[in-house]
Amino acid sequence: MFEIVGETSGEVSGAKRFKLPGVTIKFKCPNCGHDFEQELNGHHYLDYPQMNKAFQYGTGCPECEHEWQIPLILKVSLEEADGIPDSS
Ligand SMILES: [Zn+2]
Repeated sequence: MFEIVGETSGEVSGAKRFKLPGVTIKFKCPNCGHDFEQELNGHHYLDYPQMNKAFQYGTGCPECEHEWQIPLILKVSLEEADGIPDSS
């Protein structure tokens, strides 16, 4: 038996460049309408993100160089799993 208590808060520990492989943000430039994507797996990342607290993510259009910010929230939680799938 076990119990998990508390909620994450504050900065992700040691996450100067926090990457989220598999996650892509798709943008439409509010200035020129250009569509582009940013994969958060290397060149793009979250800079010292706060957990479970909204923050601003800055981006820029590769076509017209317009820059703007979007609000994001990084939800981090620890929960009991149904089990661990067999690895082979
Ligand atoms: Zn643009």
